[in-house]
Amino acid sequence: MRLDYLSIFPAYFDVLDISLLGKAAVNGLVEMHAHDLRDWTHDRHRTVDDTPCGGGAGMVMKPNPWGEAFDDIIGTEPDLSVHVMFPTPSGAPFTQSAAQELSSVERIVFCCGRYEGIDHRVIDYARSMWTAHEVSLGDYVLNGGEVAALAITEAVVRLVPGFMGNPGSLAEESFSAGQEGMLEYPLFTRPVSWRGFDVPEVLMSGHHGRIAKWRRDESARLTRERRPDLGDFGSGIRH
Ligand code: SAM
Repeated sequence: MRLDYLSIFPAYFDVLDISLLGKAAVNGLVEMHAHDLRDWTHDRHRTVDDTPCGGGAGMVMKPNPWGEAFDDIIGTEPDLSVHVMFPTPSGAPFTQSAAQELSSVERIVFCCGRYEGIDHRVIDYARSMWTAHEVSLGDYVLNGGEVAALAITEAVVRLVPGFMGNPGSLAEESFSAGQEGMLEYPLFTRPVSWRGFDVPEVLMSGHHGRIAKWRRDESARLTRERRPDLGDFGSGIRH
């Protein structure tokens, strides 16, 4: 999988060298390239923004540098196998199932907005050429799309086959099929007693059936309490 990041702050992506993502790059599982959008400007000030048509506060990212960057990084031919991501608060919420779908694609290009956002024709153009997605990280506003692109990268790349040393750990995570789409149950490790708090007795019982039931019940309880929007978990079983 190849991932490209277009941003006016490409240094944000230096962290991709760290931890498991960095290891995946060294091992050749993924290839990641950060680009400075200003490299595709032609004026002395390397301008990427202009005032909004129709008036209003703030600035809007001009389409020209994006178009030229696309030509150089992706090419000028339509290709639906290329996925172009536009992080934006007005996008569809990014979910685990979206991460799962993207984990099998060959090419993702992240377009990181700044200021009030990107001229909408850039998105229309990308949609006419490639598979374009407008995605939101959550119902809040960040300063730019870089943090969202990094979060999406982690969510996607950890699902690429070969990324996890133990793929079993993916199966039982929050939102996963093995977790019946629910939140994960609370986790514990040794020591059994710590500062007056004990590991629940059932987890030390060695009784696999009771442990599985306790985890299912806890998942259902947490999901009901915190994320009732994920489904009906009243009985502990998703309907
Ligand atoms: N004017 C925009 C609005 O009201 O929706 C907010 C622009 S925000 C200051 C600048 C950039 O940050 C956006 O273009 C987008 O790339 C990114 N961004 C901000 N919040 C985001 C979120 N919740 N999810 C994904 N990207 C976000």
